[in-house]
Amino acid sequence: MSLNPQCELKTTNPHKKTPRELLIALAGNPNSGKTTFFNQLTGARQHVGNWPGVTVERKEGVVHSGGTRFRIVDLPGIYSMSAYSQEEMIARDFLISGGVDVVVNVVDAANLERNLYLTMQLLELGLPVVIALNMIDEVEKRGQRIDTAKMSRLLCVPVVPTQARAGIGLEQVLSEVVEVAEKSADRKPHATRYHPTIEAEISKLEKTLHIAGDCPLPSRWLIVKSLEGDEDALNRLKRWVEDGDAAQEAIGSTRRHLEAHLGENLETVVADSRYGFIEGLLREVIRYTKAPEALTTTDRIDAIVLHPFLGVPIFLALVLLTFELTFGLGGVLSGVIEHQVSILAEHLKTVMPNTPLQSLLVEGVIPGVGGVIVFLPNICIMFAAISLLESSGYMARAAFLMDRLMHSMGLHGKSFIPMLMGFGCNVPAIMATRTLESFEDRLLTILVLPLMSCSARLPIYILFTGIFFRHSAALVIFSLYVIGVLLAVLSGKLLRRAFFAQTFSAFVMELPPYRLPTLKGTALDVWERAWIFLSKAGTVILAASVVVWALGSLPWGVPFGSERSLAGMLGKLLAPLVAPLGLDWRAAVALLFGVAAKEIVVSTLGILYSASPKAQGSPNIASAVSQSFTPLTAYAFMAVSLIYIPCAATIAAIKRETNSWKWAAFASCYTICLAYAVGLLIYQLGRVVGLG
Ligand code: GDP
Ligand code: MG
Repeated sequence: MSLNPQCELKTTNPHKKTPRELLIALAGNPNSGKTTFFNQLTGARQHVGNWPGVTVERKEGVVHSGGTRFRIVDLPGIYSMSAYSQEEMIARDFLISGGVDVVVNVVDAANLERNLYLTMQLLELGLPVVIALNMIDEVEKRGQRIDTAKMSRLLCVPVVPTQARAGIGLEQVLSEVVEVAEKSADRKPHATRYHPTIEAEISKLEKTLHIAGDCPLPSRWLIVKSLEGDEDALNRLKRWVEDGDAAQEAIGSTRRHLEAHLGENLETVVADSRYGFIEGLLREVIRYTKAPEALTTTDRIDAIVLHPFLGVPIFLALVLLTFELTFGLGGVLSGVIEHQVSILAEHLKTVMPNTPLQSLLVEGVIPGVGGVIVFLPNICIMFAAISLLESSGYMARAAFLMDRLMHSMGLHGKSFIPMLMGFGCNVPAIMATRTLESFEDRLLTILVLPLMSCSARLPIYILFTGIFFRHSAALVIFSLYVIGVLLAVLSGKLLRRAFFAQTFSAFVMELPPYRLPTLKGTALDVWERAWIFLSKAGTVILAASVVVWALGSLPWGVPFGSERSLAGMLGKLLAPLVAPLGLDWRAAVALLFGVAAKEIVVSTLGILYSASPKAQGSPNIASAVSQSFTPLTAYAFMAVSLIYIPCAATIAAIKRETNSWKWAAFASCYTICLAYAVGLLIYQLGRVVGLG
């Protein structure tokens, strides 16, 4: 392979002053080490948000080096620059927006062929690129050596060997970035050479289409992409020519002509050319220092972990361990926080005068906000565990194992972990769906997740089974969990069919090699989640608890939560609605309050029933409840509590993770209708068979 003629060294323009700030985009395949690279450089100086209008996470950070301020954006991991997935669209839009000074293409040197496919496309786009040849340590371990100087010459871009995890080579990448940025005016797009027939047609189109000279995108790229059938590129192309429709027509007929001539889909031919180039390149630059090992460590671990019989038990054991830690250890820590919160409430009760302000703090804000902070240890532990499982490479295996089961539910294999977590708490579970790459898969998982019976619903079950099903409590509670799972399965299938019938994502996931997670990476992951949880869910919970408190205490002076309070009046309004389910107004109010947090269902029932006339002379809430419910209505009530609208924090999480109130509203309405239907079915069927 000869040196690329376009690769002539350009002299640096001496009049151009060193730029003070450079915007760097980190682009690369998933798992190539972008985030590690990003974390190493920016440390805690990073900002996590979402890309506008979508749920894909956007990380941005700043680092100063050699007098330059680098703003770094960690792009979503992508394999290609086609415009199929949301991630690809985001990365592509960002890269061609014109704002990026230099693209740092993080390449997994241990998987060069696949990684360079994206590199080829970055180069075709004519972007200023510096290649960080990451995980070079793994290549060396394998007995290979990569001639980076030669690779750099062949690709016409700087190639820097790096080990992001150890922080090696990163500074050199930055200095190459400065270099490339200074020379950017002289840059010429690198061209992949396609089949001669294609090349001839490209030249012809370049001449006939007259793409405007000030078009910011390389005309060759626009033409090739349009020929590949890329709608987005074609639309862009049409904007830069005089007659858009004629251009579209020309592209279409050229495409048909070429496909007839080559006897194959043009996209395939173009992809083959890129891979052909890559293959040649690899043959030039890879040297073997010793014979390749027969079995890698990864192979050995996989032999056990993906074993036909051992695989699932090992997985379940790890899940159980995660649960133990999250809810066992986490529960202990939560208890400590809970205790402190109640001490604070007691303290305020004694030192503050009995005013509305005291009531707001002691009955509204502290239980509400405290109730959120109490979840913090669980959240931190759970995300530490996820981060470890994920970055070690195990999560990909777990998804692989569970794939078939989840597919039968219309869900993605990776949905399994979040679903399982849902039994603990829906909020972190919804956040955990971030491990799913496709938006459809994420959305579907998020929508069915609230049907996983979270631990906040357990107090409701415990209260009612303790009263009505003393001898079969475990069985009854188990049946409720099963109802939740069955409904999730049915909903998964139904929603998949209703919303994205065509987009069922095939599960093609490679299994990355096992790697030792870093403390820094895990700590940052945990910190990020904790912060998101505290700041955002905290504000929603706070607002919800103030509203619930106000409804219960207004008009001022009525007993909290009595019939004369706003809540009571509301209850009377709702009573006819819940009557067909065999429930009274207090149950309706409890359900209403329970929207703030499902635990509140129990405490509301406690307040309302101990204030009810039936309980007079009996301070025992249980006896009051037992007079107002029958075993049948109790079961219906538990089922409704399980299914109906997720709690406020979960709704907020759905809104945040789907980036739209529409889906939060949909999830709320859907579950309310479902709960009503199930409650009605249980009560009316029960009466027919004589259980009422
Ligand atoms: P991303 O998906 O591109 O953001 O990749 P990550 O930054 O999450 O990295 C994936 C895995 O590769 C993590 O387990 C990292 O610890 C590991 N990793 C990153 N850089 C290196 C490296 O230079 N050498 C080795 N052996 N592992 C690395
Ligand atoms: Mg990443």
